Amino acid sequence: MNRIVPLVALFSGLFFAGVAIGDESTKPPEVKRGEPIVFKMVDYDVKEWQAKTKTGAAPWFKVDVKKGSWYVDWDAQRQPFDTIVIHHSDTKPDTIPADIDSGQKERLYAPRYRSADDDPYVKGLTIHSGHIVDGKEKYIGYHHLVYADGKVTTELSPLVKIDGKWFVDHVAWHAGKWSVNCRSVAICLVGNFSEEYEEDGKKKIREPSDAQLRATAGLIVHYRTFNSKATVTSHGDHAKTECPGKTWYLWKKKITKE
Ligand SMILES: [Zn+2]
Repeated sequence: MNRIVPLVALFSGLFFAGVAIGDESTKPPEVKRGEPIVFKMVDYDVKEWQAKTKTGAAPWFKVDVKKGSWYVDWDAQRQPFDTIVIHHSDTKPDTIPADIDSGQKERLYAPRYRSADDDPYVKGLTIHSGHIVDGKEKYIGYHHLVYADGKVTTELSPLVKIDGKWFVDHVAWHAGKWSVNCRSVAICLVGNFSEEYEEDGKKKIREPSDAQLRATAGLIVHYRTFNSKATVTSHGDHAKTECPGKTWYLWKKKITKE
């Protein structure tokens, strides 16, 4: 097992726990549950991946040795990091990470696990993201949150070094396209940047604060040290959505310095 070298420190004071590994030597179960629908969207060779990562385990499942249960390994299709995706939270600017997390558990993960017929792959399994950070399982779909005061939080483990190359570690559910999730880091600016408001009798649409933009620009510089060619994209570049807000075209240049 030569797989995981977690990227432990990102910014001063920001740390996250590596994912607990150790079940790769456990024999896969005799159960055949079929390939999940979501994985069919990806052009992906299982054998090639196993050879590359040398995990020797069935990629779709991993066992929780303590509980003796099987879970989907949602991160099994991680790819080399080459894309940054910018989001807005579409919430009030002071929304705390735990509230975004619980909201996304309900919106993203719960429907998959509740599905009666169309997703036999996860039906009956305990809801599970596999994204354990600081001993807590997280369901948030972003690696980082950036607040109006410039504060950055690390919610998921963004990158992992495998055989000398940086891959996405926790595949975040954010881009609306699985193949993009597998190769991207998700940065979410907290707030709603489509929000209309009035100032000095004029109608305006909300933009991120300068501190928020500076912090986001700093994150981008940081991630380009892992892949200098990483592209900066919006959620709307990958899916039909207004995210990260109607004003994106106004502030895009400020964070990419392009
Ligand atoms: Zn988004």
